This record gives sequence, structure tokens and C-alpha cells, in this order.
Amino acid sequence: TVLADQIAAGEVIERPASVVKELVENAIDAKSHEIDILVEDAGLKTIQVIDDGVGIAADEVQLAFRRHATSKIGDRKDLFRVQSLGFRGEALPSIASIADVVMVTSTGGEGQQLHIAGGDVVDQKPAEARRGTAITVKDLFYNVPARLKYLKSLNTELSKIVDIVDRLAFGHPEISMSLTHNGRELLRTAGRDDLRQVIGSIYGMNKVGKMLPIDASDADFKVSGYVSLPELTRSGRSYMSILLNGRYIKNYQLTKAIVAGYGSKLMVGRYPLAVINFTMDPLLVDVNVHPTKQEVRISKEDQLAALTTQAIQSALAPQNL
Ligand code: ADP
Ligand code: MG
Repeated sequence: TVLADQIAAGEVIERPASVVKELVENAIDAKSHEIDILVEDAGLKTIQVIDDGVGIAADEVQLAFRRHATSKIGDRKDLFRVQSLGFRGEALPSIASIADVVMVTSTGGEGQQLHIAGGDVVDQKPAEARRGTAITVKDLFYNVPARLKYLKSLNTELSKIVDIVDRLAFGHPEISMSLTHNGRELLRTAGRDDLRQVIGSIYGMNKVGKMLPIDASDADFKVSGYVSLPELTRSGRSYMSILLNGRYIKNYQLTKAIVAGYGSKLMVGRYPLAVINFTMDPLLVDVNVHPTKQEVRISKEDQLAALTTQAIQSALAPQNL
């Protein structure tokens, strides 16, 4: 029901940035090479995500907006080895229950256009489209005034969108992503599968020379990415991005392990820039902890933390810093 969708939306869709995250994750799962994100008024007016992925077949277009309809989990066992970013089948119905949504999609042939508003299908009709999917979300939270009130300023909401797009781009350097706000392009990555290039387009090319590659592995985990020289720091922890099998997550213990790798090289209250990808068997991760999928449970987390600290220590050691 629309009500159940709106309740789920309360958990999954906190703010405009949550919509951007869910739509871009879907585009990534759809094997896109290029994802363009166009936002107006920090996402409160419009959020549009255009991809060149596999698209959705005509007879599955409406199904995609039904609760717990996911094409990504075949059986119960799949839940314990989640590879895709999405798997709960909650995002699209949640978004459609609290906004005006138009989706144009094609698997290669004739496309389809579906219009859903406040959870109700307005219409579906054939449409001209290239392969891929374009979703346009307008008037987010128009029927949830309480949520609108709780939002912060447009600047804050926009910075949360930029933040989430940055992490999605870090997780997928092989995809060319762009973010445009009110007609101004804020970010564009090359899609050349080069993490250094992505770091450069996000933190500035002048920072790239101050980032060291790290690379370590043991029987269970691989830790790779870039960390900054101790001279390049920030006053907050948010410049440390943790990606687990390409999924952006928050993890206090791993953040602590990164900082520990610097030992006494950091000034008090200063934190490095870091983009670290942790690769592991999906069986070692439980992503089904929270609807936003940003908190996960990792088996052998202590072992992974130790490996991380070590990887950073050995990257910094030859610099004799
Ligand atoms: P989930 O991602 O958890 O499966 P969603 O509600 O986000 O659930 O999406 C529902 C379904 O719609 C997906 O499983 C997928 O089949 C389809 N879908 C959504 N977005 C796209 C897209 N951009 N390209 C192709 N298929 C999509
Ligand atoms: Mg999804």
C-alpha cells in the first residue's frame, strides 16, 4: 500500500541526498558506463538520474515500483552474498510514494515512460529512448510536510548530495559520473577506471601528488587505495572514505585503524584524506543491518583493522616521514 511505502520511505529516504544515492546505486547495478545526475534547488525541485545501463523491460516497469520487488535477489541464500548495491526492493516504491516520478527506460528497442505520483500510477506509454534509464523525481516530500520542515538549508542539503556522489564515484572509477546543480557542473569523472583521476577531480589535481597508494592483503582481505601524506590533513573525519566491495560504508573501527596507521605523525585533531577499498568475500559481510545499507557487519573485523593499519604504516615508511 501507499501507506506502507511512505513508512518505508521514512527509513530509506531521509533527505534529497538519499534519493540521489538510491537512484545512482540502481544505475550502477544496471551496469552503466555513464551516469549523469542533474539536480535543481538541492534536489527539492528536481533530481534526475540518467544512465546507459541495461534498462527495464516494458512488462516490468511497474513491477519495479512495487514493494520488495527486486530483480537482484534470486533466493534466500543470495541475501548472504549480496553483490549488488540494492537488494531490498524498497527504494523506488518509497521515492514514488513521496514525490512525482517519471521514468523513461529502454532495454534497446522501443522505450516506455511511466508516470507515478504519490504512489499512484498516472500513466504508462511507449516512448522514444536510447538504451538505459532516466528517472526524474520532482517535488520530493510534497505530501510529507513534517519531513520538509526537518530538512536543513539548501546549502547543507546540496553538500550532502555532493558528499554521496563523491563516495559513489570513488567506489566506481570505471563509471563516468557527472553532477550538475542548477545548470552548473560540480563534478565529472572520466570513467577510465583510474582512482587517482577520480580523487583528482574531487579533491583537486594538486592533491593527487600528495596521495600515496596503499596495497596489502591476507587470506581474507585486500586493502587498496590512496592515503594522504601526513602534511595533507583536514579537521574532520569525513575525508576518509571507506568502500567495501565498492559500496560506501561508515565504520568507526576501520576509520580508527586508518588514523592509527599514522601513529604520532598527525597533529591532534587532524585527519588524513583517504579513499580505501576493502575487498572481501561477500560472505564475510552482512549488509542487511539497516535500510540505508551504510552500516554493515564484517566478520574478522579486528584482523581487517590490523591489516589496514599495517598497510598505511608501510606506505608511509619509505617516505621516512
Ligand atoms: P533494489 O535496488 O533493492 O532491487 P529498487 O526499488 O531500488 O530495489 O529497484 C527495484 C528494481 O527496479 C531493481 O531491482 C531493478 O530491477 C529495477 N531498476 C531500478 N532502477 C533501475 C535502473 N536504473 N536500471 C535498470 N533497472 C532498474
Ligand atoms: Mg535500489
